[in-house]
Amino acid sequence: MDIIFLKPVFKQMIWGGERLRRDFGYEIPGNHTGECWAISAHPQGDCTVSEGKFAGMRLSELFRSHRELFGDMAGERFPLLVKLIDAREDLSIQVHPDDAYAAANENGSLGKMECWYILDCEKDATIVIGHHAGSRQELETMVREGRWKELIREIPVKKGDFFQINPGCVHAIKGGTLILETQQNSDITYRLYDYDRLQDGKLRPLHIKQSLEVIQVPFVQPQAGVGESKTVNAWLEQLVTCQYYTVWKGELKGKRTIVQDQKFMLGSVIEGSAKINNRLVKKGTHFILPYGIPPLSIEGDGIFIFSAVSES
Ligand code: ZN
Repeated sequence: MDIIFLKPVFKQMIWGGERLRRDFGYEIPGNHTGECWAISAHPQGDCTVSEGKFAGMRLSELFRSHRELFGDMAGERFPLLVKLIDAREDLSIQVHPDDAYAAANENGSLGKMECWYILDCEKDATIVIGHHAGSRQELETMVREGRWKELIREIPVKKGDFFQINPGCVHAIKGGTLILETQQNSDITYRLYDYDRLQDGKLRPLHIKQSLEVIQVPFVQPQAGVGESKTVNAWLEQLVTCQYYTVWKGELKGKRTIVQDQKFMLGSVIEGSAKINNRLVKKGTHFILPYGIPPLSIEGDGIFIFSAVSES
């Protein structure tokens, strides 16, 4: 049984840059590459297995036809999505629905819970998480009157910070920030405010009605909780656990073992390099450890982000 390596899908975005090439060595499609969908089976960006006996197969197809690799978990869709995001400029201020709202209003789609690990950022970088409205009425008034400065909650960030973003939480990545995002496999985003920017001479559409319906009021800081550790791998630090996923960070110096004790585990190398069972992985490598894979030896100097689906 082998580690499954994937070939990412890249997305050009008006706010994107070229750090995915500069910092990660990827071949990117242009100088406005905003996103690397690193582990994804989403129809808008379905990764391809890059080697081994499943080489050339899409992750969605692998999930459909070889469910044993994923612990025979239930469900139509591969549940998670891991992205790298290079925000050269500010992203629009947005909010995601939960599963119930998305199912009712977005053709049965999933909602979106997500979390961010700050890979790098400029000095004095900030992000938007939450708002300052005390009631739904106040939120509606502030949005209607365009009192964005008053409404939006902006906080400083630094490399290595981690944030859990619940559905209903207003958020935005600001320019100069590089992020690893682990999320539910969904692409439903409601744009609340876009700084009145023009794209090809036009404002991008906003989704004020949907945003007002899903924004949580008042804002409550999401729990980037440590929670109970759900792995036997003591060298992994748990960053968050919620109903959809658990995310860990592993700082490797020397030799360790990974016991794959989940349905499956997703892994990304974000710094340095290592050998896993004698196979070289380096910054920018993403992989899946399938169900039942024997304990792996891992040796090197680097930082890893792992995730797994929460068992329901
Ligand atoms: Zn988001």
